[in-house]
Amino acid sequence: MNSNRTRVAKGGVLVLGGGFAGSCVARELGRTGATIVNPTNFMLYTPLLPEAGAGSVEPRHVAVPLRTVAPDADLVLGSAVGLDPTHRVVEVESDAGRFELAYADLVVALGTVTPNPLLRELNLPLDGHGRVRVDETLRVVGAPSIWALGDCAAVPNEARPGETDPATCQHALRQARALARNLRGTPRPYRSRTRGEMATLGRRDVAELSLPGARTDQGAESGRRPDVEPDTRRQAHDMDSYEAVLFDLDGVLTSTAALHARCWKEVFDDVLVEAGRRAGAVQEPFDVERDYLAHVDGKTREDGVRDFLRARGIDVPEGHPDSAPDEWSVHGIGNRKQALVERALASEPIEAFAGAVRLVRALREAGVRTAVVSSSANCDDVLRAAGIADLFELTVDGNDVTRLGLRGKPAPDGFLEGARRLAANPERTVVVEDALAGVAAGRAGGFGLVVGVARNGTREELLSAGADLVVADLGELLR
Ligand SMILES: Cc1cc2nc3c(=O)[nH]c(=O)nc-3n(C[C@H](O)[C@H](O)[C@H](O)COP(=O)(O)OP(=O)(O)OC[C@H]3O[C@@H](n4cnc5c(N)ncnc54)[C@H](O)[C@@H]3O)c2cc1C
Repeated sequence: MNSNRTRVAKGGVLVLGGGFAGSCVARELGRTGATIVNPTNFMLYTPLLPEAGAGSVEPRHVAVPLRTVAPDADLVLGSAVGLDPTHRVVEVESDAGRFELAYADLVVALGTVTPNPLLRELNLPLDGHGRVRVDETLRVVGAPSIWALGDCAAVPNEARPGETDPATCQHALRQARALARNLRGTPRPYRSRTRGEMATLGRRDVAELSLPGARTDQGAESGRRPDVEPDTRRQAHDMDSYEAVLFDLDGVLTSTAALHARCWKEVFDDVLVEAGRRAGAVQEPFDVERDYLAHVDGKTREDGVRDFLRARGIDVPEGHPDSAPDEWSVHGIGNRKQALVERALASEPIEAFAGAVRLVRALREAGVRTAVVSSSANCDDVLRAAGIADLFELTVDGNDVTRLGLRGKPAPDGFLEGARRLAANPERTVVVEDALAGVAAGRAGGFGLVVGVARNGTREELLSAGADLVVADLGELLR
């Protein structure tokens, strides 16, 4: 090479190309570091097809400063023009002239639908379409310290046997997250199982998750959910690309939500009769669907009592945590319900949903960390009774909420505590919930993906509460 100056890539990782794939790898590496080589300081979105078709492309959709996308990365404004894999240096041409950049790992993310002609000059192994051949960890075939992804790479796709990932931004981003993980630790196979649909710029799974400067659809900016129907099949497979998944318990993992609803009804119906007697006005009985979902589901016992009775205009004193179950107080009523639950748990079989169990097993096999975050004080007992306690690294339950002074759902405290204990970044963590309050908690905590489980047909409400996608059974996510 002709260069007379050599610089070393930050953290040893040199990324060629600052498009969807390259900028996302650098962003995911965070402070570990990376240097991006790109001709401009902008990540350019080619106007994405659905938006272009809808005539909704705006300049801010099309260019995002790379320094916003990957704030911790070093940026070199220039073009890669040569590669010496033996000495691990890339030659770069910039306004300031030519120089060499040394790397420990090189990430080739040079994009373009028609393969970048530079790939041939870099002497990388190419397939029949001129894309770089990679193995299942995204490592370039025959080149131990070089990786490739995005449009310029031929990445095997399991859902299309014998074929490669389609050239879409969603695949580029998904590969980028997997590659960043491989660069940080022992490389794991990248399982690409989606057939590949074009994703619009505003979709959470593309722009919002990975590129904060690109929160550009109207829905996201106004706080309204995008009007796009979440595509369960496509997003489901994303779950194994997250660091951790936090599951609610009742109604998500085990069939105990109905048991809780039944116990609440027994307790509240008595309370409503008593309140009606005191006020001289008859109260409607507790509705196990409407009242349970709106006021009680997912909340701590005490919050459930407070919120439901407030909704009926009934005032009760707080009482104390050890109030007797027959006391006319928030804690007394809560303790009455707890006694009923304990009796039911002791006498009824507790079953885990088969689909949920299969999903948790698959996630663990993929190296994703799993925990349970529940408002229930009986969480550990229920997990044991259902025979699934060993599927989770830890639990954050109703007792923790009280002991640590955490706010109950819809506040995100319990989920954030779960992520903290797993040392997982909330943005890289999934929350799975069936309760509206729980979904709202996942959204409030800034979690990367919130999955709603609609066993009782509450799909629209779960979406309105902030779920990114809704399934009737978690087994659907394995398809
Ligand atoms: C018209 C059009 C519409 C599309 N619509 C959609 C859509 O709706 N949904 C969807 O999912 N996908 C869409 N795509 C595909 C999507 O844009 C790509 O899949 C995605 O950009 C691939 O990301 P990448 O990082 O691999 O490549 P790119 O995003 O193209 O990034 C490659 C980067 O490499 C840089 N580069 C090139 N040469 C050099 C060099 N020598 N040195 C340094 N840097 C260099 C470039 O400047 C660029 O920044 C569309 C593509 C086109 C062309």
